[in-house]
Parts: sequence; C-alpha cells; structure tokens
Amino acid sequence: MLKKILSPESCAKCRLCCIFDRYDVWETPVFNEFQRDLILAERPDTEFVPKDGGFILRVTHFDEDQLFRCPALTETGCMLGDNKPFDCRIWPYRIMDIGGRRAITMASICQEMYSRPLSQLVGFLKEGLAVQIFAYADQHPEIVKHYYEGYPVLLFEKNRS
Ligand code: SF4
Repeated sequence: MLKKILSPESCAKCRLCCIFDRYDVWETPVFNEFQRDLILAERPDTEFVPKDGGFILRVTHFDEDQLFRCPALTETGCMLGDNKPFDCRIWPYRIMDIGGRRAITMASICQEMYSRPLSQLVGFLKEGLAVQIFAYADQHPEIVKHYYEGYPVLLFEKNRS
C-alpha cells in the first residue's frame, strides 16, 4: 500500500519491521486465518494466539541476540508476498486507540519514513490512506493497538457519529 512512497528496495535492505526485541514485540502483526495457515504450512512450529478475530504470534523465545524474527521472514523477504498482513502493508503507520479515539501514529524506527517532513507524512494520509486504514479497522478492530508512548500522533479520526 505504501509502494508509491516507500520503495520495495529500501524495505528489502532493512527489514527492521520484521524483527522485534523485548520492547517492541507487541508490534508483531495481526494475521488472518489464511495468512496464519500459509505460515503454518512452512513453519509448523509457529504458535498463534487468537485476538479479536485475528491471530497474533505467541513469542516464546528470543535468539542469542535477544531478537525475535517474524516466522514469515525468509532470506528473500516475507514469504507472504502480496498476502502480507494489513499491519505490515501500512507500516510504519500504526492505528492506535488513544483514550477511546482512533488515531494514526508512526513507528519512529523506520528511518526511511521518519526522516521525511511531517507535512509529507500527514499528506500521504490525507490523500486517501487514512480513510483506507480507518475503514479496514472498522472491519478488523483487532489491528487497533493501544497507544504506546513515543509514537508521534499524525492524525486523529474525525468523530464517528
Ligand atoms: S508478515 Fe512479513 S512483512 Fe510482516 S513482519 Fe512478518 S515477515 Fe515482515
């Protein structure tokens, strides 16, 4: 979804959003049943926990560098390809609940995006991306995360009536 603004080449070189430490393991994506089954077909040891209609990973251990790699991550990138979770397709944008109101925030770890002017980051959202994100979250509330301190808030949803 962000291909227009975030080149696949930049993402391929980085992959930070697919590797988690103890402090951002809550950021692992929410999968649907189809995606879960694709991963299980390749990595049958992967454990999932149901979450509000979706599935999140059960993280049971970290590697010697104290990191957890998403089980869908392979040497050549994400095994899910175009079927990757919505969470991953909009990353580093995040949708969070702030005191009962939904907002779009940004993960600062993505330097490629975070280094851009705020006007540009908000501009991408106003060009239609925010509407898509909120609409998806209406159907899939499991992707809405509780607000996490340190995530800049880019845009609040207009009051829903
Ligand atoms: S599902 Fe794919 S894109 Fe998303 S975190 Fe895992 S490897 Fe990365």
